Amino acid sequence: MGWDLNLLLSYFLTQFPAEILSCPRNHIMPPILPRSVSANAEKLKEFFVYYPDFPKKGIQFWDIFALYSNPEAVCLLNLVLAGYAEVMKGEIDVVVGIEARGFLFGPTLANLLNCTFVPVRKKGKLPGKIRQKTYTLEYGSDTIEIQENSLKAGQRVLVVDDCIATGGTLNASCNLVEEIGAKVVDCLVIYEIPELKGSEKISYPITQLCS
Ligand code: AMP
Repeated sequence: MGWDLNLLLSYFLTQFPAEILSCPRNHIMPPILPRSVSANAEKLKEFFVYYPDFPKKGIQFWDIFALYSNPEAVCLLNLVLAGYAEVMKGEIDVVVGIEARGFLFGPTLANLLNCTFVPVRKKGKLPGKIRQKTYTLEYGSDTIEIQENSLKAGQRVLVVDDCIATGGTLNASCNLVEEIGAKVVDCLVIYEIPELKGSEKISYPITQLCS
């Protein structure tokens, strides 16, 4: 009789504390979340709301604010973020949040990880010396910016956004971070629009909470 590898892996994940499950500093894979955390993340899907043909025909819009309109969903999301932070504690120096929906939970994560929060914003909104990138996305093209002095070379960065659509924004944000000399340790998103397969174009580690 052969071993059931899935059963063994599940057993392993429930037996070891979160610190043991965190990845080494130079990992290229996203961290493995304890089963309790991913189970709660999957429950979040019950609160998902989609709008077909918004903002243009053919686009299936996933509305993160449907989560935020429900206290039970917010509680669940905060629980999942705390579980993620527990695994990543000590591995991250800066959380970079992408405008606008990366600002919803990026600062919460930064607080949980005891590190700073830095915004990536649309063109023209950040003062001081900036670095920018133009890229194509699902509906048009866009330019994003980061303050040059907001990150230091060698800092370990977590990049957060609500979802991956084409993946263009997340990819451009990670490129900006690495051009400054900081290192993208992980990207955290709640959801990926499956039809667009955006994550396949991103060569940075990605933790997608709900699949
Ligand atoms: P993208 O660069 O195409 O991955 O998308 C950039 C951002 O636009 C995402 O992080 C979302 O905040 C938003 N967005 C794009 N497409 C969608 C969609 N279909 N549903 C919800 N949000 C979207």
